[in-house]
Amino acid sequence: MALLQISEPGQSTTPHQRRFAAGIDLGTTNSLVATVRNGKAETLADESKKELLPSVVRYLSNGEIQTGEKALSHSIEDPKNTIISSKRIIGRSTKELIQTDKNHTNEFSHTETGTAKILTVAGEISPIEVASEILKNLKNRAEKTLGDELSGVVITVPAYFDDAQRQATKDAATLANLKVFRLLNEPTAAAIAYGLDAESEGAIVVYDFGGGTFDVSILQLNKGVFEVLATAGDTQLGGDDLDLLIANWITKKLDIQFELDKSTLRYIYNKAKYAKEKLTQENKVAIDLDIDQAFKGTIILTRNKFNEIVEPLVKKTISPCRQAIRDANINKTEIKNVVMVGGSTRIPLVRQLVTDFFEQQIHVDIDPDKVVALGAAIQADILAGNKPDSDMLLLDVNPLSLGIETMGGLVEKIISRNTTLPVARAQEFTTFKEGQTALAIHVVQGERELVDDCRSLARFELHGIPPMVAGAAKIRVTFQIDADGLLNVSARETISGVESQITVKPSYGLESDEIENMLRSSIKHAAEDLGMRKLREQQVAAKRELEAIEAALLEDADTHLNAEERTKIDAAVDQLRACMEDSDSAIIKKAIKNVEQVASFYVERRMNKNIQQALTGHNVNDINI
Ligand code: ADP
Ligand code: MG
Repeated sequence: MALLQISEPGQSTTPHQRRFAAGIDLGTTNSLVATVRNGKAETLADESKKELLPSVVRYLSNGEIQTGEKALSHSIEDPKNTIISSKRIIGRSTKELIQTDKNHTNEFSHTETGTAKILTVAGEISPIEVASEILKNLKNRAEKTLGDELSGVVITVPAYFDDAQRQATKDAATLANLKVFRLLNEPTAAAIAYGLDAESEGAIVVYDFGGGTFDVSILQLNKGVFEVLATAGDTQLGGDDLDLLIANWITKKLDIQFELDKSTLRYIYNKAKYAKEKLTQENKVAIDLDIDQAFKGTIILTRNKFNEIVEPLVKKTISPCRQAIRDANINKTEIKNVVMVGGSTRIPLVRQLVTDFFEQQIHVDIDPDKVVALGAAIQADILAGNKPDSDMLLLDVNPLSLGIETMGGLVEKIISRNTTLPVARAQEFTTFKEGQTALAIHVVQGERELVDDCRSLARFELHGIPPMVAGAAKIRVTFQIDADGLLNVSARETISGVESQITVKPSYGLESDEIENMLRSSIKHAAEDLGMRKLREQQVAAKRELEAIEAALLEDADTHLNAEERTKIDAAVDQLRACMEDSDSAIIKKAIKNVEQVASFYVERRMNKNIQQALTGHNVNDINI
């Protein structure tokens, strides 16, 4: 019999206690939890040996809350209180939902600006609460399996999630009593799972086609560091949409004339989904249907017909691929690995189109459902301190430029799009008016030159600037985005030290279509914007010139100018004022120049007088030069 060695309490000879950590893939359709055990990442199953937890939550009138399969099985009879695909609505407003998500079988509260809430028998439920129920379920599963509490988790989010959606995900974790080591972009997690951090060169494409979202990212390893060169995608495109197309095909084929109720719709969706999944293996599928008063029988769907129906949607995933390659500023030939992620990448047509586009073999070896959770688990293990020798660092990028509004409604970009995160950038600004003691800071997001064409993120004010002449104050505005993509903006007047700041948690998020539109319109309007920028800049300069000269004239025109001189200056000033609203920046520029020239002798006289005044009573030695 072997003798077991036991050390004294508190004096364990192991170098460090292992801390339990997990990776969580909080998916739109399915969620998973994984952990590293014995040096290997593995997904954890529930009591009935199932690893995928359907991201579904059902609220009952008695206060009970069901999650996963149990909730899903009631989605037909109780669609109103069963919440499916809640990730599509997390961090978003009701208004946006009405615009973009017409196919929800849930009902939402109608607040115009606030984030969406779902109306259930248990009251109004926020998508954050829904996500927290899923997280609680996975936390319990992990702690039961591991026999101890989790020290922390890494939760994955789509690369396209904005501030609001990331913050909402973190809030859900807090609500589930989980410590979040960090949020991680899903594609980055997938690349880790494939061990591509061991590859020495070449770009990696991660193509993630799940149930609710499509994402494509281009990663590059740089001296052992993962960098996301570019991300693109569509948060409103996934397997659910394919189901919808098939469901529409079914209802059309059955020629149903009356409007279907929510339960029947859900029933048909489920049949469509079943048929779709079956068709990855088989060439045709028989769909058995039993719809009250409408149809009872079987219809056949062939893979060819299926391909024909879904091809336009699948093709829609290719243009973000092209966009990402462009943004990453690489050549297709530099791509050395294409990783397939998400249940929908099992569809043969998807694999074929992606292979054709990238002109190379694609990675499909790791289960596309599990790959993200596995990568997150590896990352969580490192962050828990279980691999002290690991120096892998993960970097992401911000999807749209961030900046502030300056005079004339112009945007000054501070962090440009696709900058690697985390990042901190600062820029100096100054006051516009003499004696100005406060400054309004307006944080905007987008690629266009004018504030009106960008998205407003936040506003705050900096007070207590000591009164100075215009342009003398130095206000340093710092933008900081942390590793999770959350933005903090601070402003500090460097002479007085007054400071003010804000953390941006916009009340709702941006859709990928919107991001795409914003990018597209920035390209389309680039020349026009540049012209507008010039014009606004000249208008601001004209305003500044007028204010300065008018203030001077008011102060000492009498002592410095004779009547003839005064008339000349007034004429130039009037001419400038008259063309302020002109749409030609060159005309304004000329008028400013004219005022400067005509008034130059006056400015000189004033300056000489000021110097004389300053020198009066001073010894030459007092003056530091
Ligand atoms: P998410 O990341 O959005 O939670 P998943 O990666 O779990 O999504 O993918 C779920 C989607 O994958 C669903 O739309 C499901 O129907 C689809 N899916 C799963 N298996 C198959 C299959 N064999 N063939 C086609 N689609 C599949
Ligand atoms: Mg996924």
